[in-house]
Amino acid sequence: MEELEINIVEKIKKTRGKDEKVIRVVEEMKKVGIRALRDEEWQLEGDLALKKRKVYVPKDEELRVEIIQLYHNIPVAGHRGKWKTTELVTRNYWWLGVTRDVGRYVEGCDMCQRMKNRTEAPAGKLKLSEVPERLWTYLMVDFITKLLLAAEKNAILVVCDMLSKMIHFIAMTEETLAEGLARLFRDNI
Ligand SMILES: [Zn+2]
Repeated sequence: MEELEINIVEKIKKTRGKDEKVIRVVEEMKKVGIRALRDEEWQLEGDLALKKRKVYVPKDEELRVEIIQLYHNIPVAGHRGKWKTTELVTRNYWWLGVTRDVGRYVEGCDMCQRMKNRTEAPAGKLKLSEVPERLWTYLMVDFITKLLLAAEKNAILVVCDMLSKMIHFIAMTEETLAEGLARLFRDNI
């Protein structure tokens, strides 16, 4: 987790040069030799631009989605609603439209949709025998990809047991083939 955060911060530093707003603010601040623009609540902290004391995430859709994923998909009690996810993201990060972007992401999240559909099924239609009685018989599988992880892993396989709501995270590579996946299941679950 900590490692993912460090990767994100590194990416933010690299992307900074692509965001005109940040470039302008940083240049202005350097010109007048100050570390904080009080009226716009901007601050410079090393290579990072802070806005309202949060790390400003430059205008890079992929990067912003990655940050949302970090707080929506990965924590053990993951896949929270849009308000909770927004709260988690904005503890550390900020950009214009962050709430809207998180809302859109959560609404479009495939795993959230599947969980919602299950809990909203009318109780009368669910026979008792359909309730999974054994652990790890009803699983939901999700992937988090395009990560920069250690030990040559760049993706996380997320497996959720619908009965216990227990979630397993398995580091893997995106290139892992079906055969490798079966092995990961056998070895990790
Ligand atoms: Zn979700």
